[in-house]
Amino acid sequence: MPVSPDQPPDQPLLAVEDLVVRYDTPHGVVHAVDGVSLTVGPGETFGLVGESGCGKSTLGRAILRLIEPASGRIHLDGEELSGKSRAALRPIRRKIQMVFQDPFGSLDPRWTVGQLLAEPLHVHGVGRRSERRERVADLLARVGLPTDAAQRHPHEFSGGQRQRIGIARALALSPKLVVCDEPVSALDVSVQAQILNLLADLQRDLGVAFLFISHDLSVVEHIADRVGVMYLGRIVETAPRAALWRRPLHPYTRALFDAVPDLDRPAAERRKPVALKGDMPSAFAPPGGCRFHTRCPLAVARCREESPPLRAIGDADHQVACHLVDAAPSN
Ligand code: SF4
Repeated sequence: MPVSPDQPPDQPLLAVEDLVVRYDTPHGVVHAVDGVSLTVGPGETFGLVGESGCGKSTLGRAILRLIEPASGRIHLDGEELSGKSRAALRPIRRKIQMVFQDPFGSLDPRWTVGQLLAEPLHVHGVGRRSERRERVADLLARVGLPTDAAQRHPHEFSGGQRQRIGIARALALSPKLVVCDEPVSALDVSVQAQILNLLADLQRDLGVAFLFISHDLSVVEHIADRVGVMYLGRIVETAPRAALWRRPLHPYTRALFDAVPDLDRPAAERRKPVALKGDMPSAFAPPGGCRFHTRCPLAVARCREESPPLRAIGDADHQVACHLVDAAPSN
């Protein structure tokens, strides 16, 4: 994990504390994120994984303050983002950027790639016109695209190339952290690998950190240093990647793993599958106690009453929110 020279080695680049996001809708309040805390170190990749609708994308957007949290604190690079006005946030936004699943969904399709990459520089008053042109050429080279791509329009490129352009735009202001929201889920598997390798190369060369959001465990395994597993607005397990893959502890994490065929292991070494019951409950009315209790095959009476806090199990880096995890079978 590379550490940028101006960052104290043990200080997280991003620290999120007890973040809560709720939406008012005509049908009621959506409890999208409920008390999430996490850290991302300088140059680290934190993978956030969970089923669609678990709140992981909302959490990513709330960290960037694209969505207003109801409560909680967000520190980036020693500065508090929570509670700051839009004007006060503007200089901080250079340090945190986002890569979207569809990088051009909200951008003017008439713009050339050069204009799209130069726009963040222009908005933040970075460089003269000639310097911005040089920066655009440098960004295109970094993401493996030819210089003449600057004169073309996004629709002239393949899905993988468009995501390279999205990554280049996110990197234009040399951010310290990039929130990547399902950046490869719309791409073919072979292209996914190319984009993941590109992100890894960029991290090695630039020391940028990633908060990498995905529903796909195999994608997260490819890129993350640490992983948080999210269920219905809460993180239920967090661990270094290798520890999680070696020994997933929360029944929900185990069910996610069991949903991925593990054909590399002999049948005798595979874990007993944890079967999930039903669908994820609605975020309009999340269950009390442990939010997973309506689907958990191990649930006991206490699970319906009492919400389990995240607590370290064995290694301080491996934290699990389950009342029974000490008793849960490990294979
Ligand atoms: Fe299952 Fe209870 Fe653990 Fe929740 S606290 S994951 S319901 S055993």
